[in-house]
Amino acid sequence: MSTTTVTTTINHFINGAESAGEGDRTQPVYNPATGQVTAELRLANRADLDNTVAAARAAADSWGDISLAKRTAVLFKFRELVAEHIDELAELITAEHGKVLSDAKGEIGRGLEVIEFACGIPSLLKGDYSDQVSTGIDVFSFREPLGVVAGITPFNFPVMVPLWMAPMAIATGNAFILKPSERDPSASLLLAKLWKDAGLPDGVFQVLHGDKETVDGLLTHPDVDGISFVGSTPIAKYVHETATAHGKRVQALGGAKNHAIILPDADLDNAADHLAAAAFGSAGERCMAISVAVAVGDAADLLVKKVEERAVAVKVNNGTVPGAEMGPVITPASKERIVKIVTEAEAAGAAMVVDGRDLVVPGHEEGFWVGPTVIDHVKTEMTAYQEEIFGPVLVVVRVDTLEDGIKLINSNPYGNGTAIFTSSGAAARKFQRAVTVGMIGINVPLPVPVAYHSFGGWKASLFGDKHIYGPEGVSFYTRGKVITSRWPEPTHASGASYNFPSN
Ligand code: NAD
Repeated sequence: MSTTTVTTTINHFINGAESAGEGDRTQPVYNPATGQVTAELRLANRADLDNTVAAARAAADSWGDISLAKRTAVLFKFRELVAEHIDELAELITAEHGKVLSDAKGEIGRGLEVIEFACGIPSLLKGDYSDQVSTGIDVFSFREPLGVVAGITPFNFPVMVPLWMAPMAIATGNAFILKPSERDPSASLLLAKLWKDAGLPDGVFQVLHGDKETVDGLLTHPDVDGISFVGSTPIAKYVHETATAHGKRVQALGGAKNHAIILPDADLDNAADHLAAAAFGSAGERCMAISVAVAVGDAADLLVKKVEERAVAVKVNNGTVPGAEMGPVITPASKERIVKIVTEAEAAGAAMVVDGRDLVVPGHEEGFWVGPTVIDHVKTEMTAYQEEIFGPVLVVVRVDTLEDGIKLINSNPYGNGTAIFTSSGAAARKFQRAVTVGMIGINVPLPVPVAYHSFGGWKASLFGDKHIYGPEGVSFYTRGKVITSRWPEPTHASGASYNFPSN
């Protein structure tokens, strides 16, 4: 890893402008494909946190009061600007995350979908009205913003995950503070500038860089009303517990161990194509990556052979190289952890089908590389099965029947995504009804819902009861008001009644 001196410093974005803040701590940011330090990231201190929250509080009051027409105009403009800057955003993602440029553009595309959904906010915020619930009495309801909300996001989608949150929070009238991952923070600053260029008032979208200290400050700050978190399960659980104990509304999305069941009646070429793409795309660093292939009956041997052919053919390189299909993993520590888990599985008797542990990419010897890896005959007691590996590793577990596969999935503590490959409608229907998982694909390996449905897992993959973006996002960032109204005619005084009102 490089120790080269860098001069680039990544700032916060507070109250409408880049800011060095007052904190004196910094942290290096790497290009994982080259192993070079590319920048120093400023980490917020308490004064930075207080200044950011104060700016958000002041902005929330006026932004929450602004007309829907004006809010929508900003969202439309922001959508246009993100689309115009897709290349620039993708370059920032690839330089700090390592995923290939085409994949980086894919995540921005999914983020754009959420902005488009948020552009329809006037109809999403339409309330309900009941006329004449009692004589002369009407009841109506509508939703108001929470106020100040914070989003704490993971390294693996530095644009998409912030865009799962911010457009929804802002469209519903809140001020939003983004605490991005320390590993790939640059794209968030460009997003901040695009929001400003779109006409968003200062303080409505801010970026505060930091680590646990900043997160803890947000979770406990009396002026923060809601927290959206996406990251690993232990931190999601901690965030949920801490912030709810401090009276905040919280949605905390955690990690995953996504299984795909392959039945013998599936088109195995199609299944192998999708399994390889879902396991090795983005170096397996997706919360919806398929990391366990559950091969049913005699599908196994042929399936493993077909996945092997695809795994060895994946073009691993710096994500900026044309034609590259997979980049490096995020840190040396991540590489070390992945290699250790694979080595333990091998020692415990699993069969190495494709071994990516020693991969070196010529010209990028200092990069954090792990090649596509396939391990067969994995048992549930192995760490390779139990832990979220978050690397380009597909483990194959063999079972006898669909029912055994469903039992396996339902015994797993995670419940983010799952998929079935089959040509049987009856089997697919049985599967979709039986699994305890939030997002299910039928011959679709990465069933990330479109923006007008909401995204969320079950069990250890989500703490809190609201899924993210889509209709549940609108609900999460707002609270309801119900008004019971009577306009008595001056001549119709009803007199006092001391009973509980009935209709
Ligand atoms: P992470 O949990 O390490 O970090 C997420 C955020 O939490 C970061 O902003 C980080 O600064 C902060 N954080 C880290 N440690 C903390 C601590 N001790 N106290 C307070 N805050 C802390 O996750 P990551 O490695 O950046 O991202 C990968 C994880 O995110 C994987 O587990 C992946 O499955 C998960 N993920 C889940 C979803 C989903 O939708 N369920 C989506 C993307 C990623």
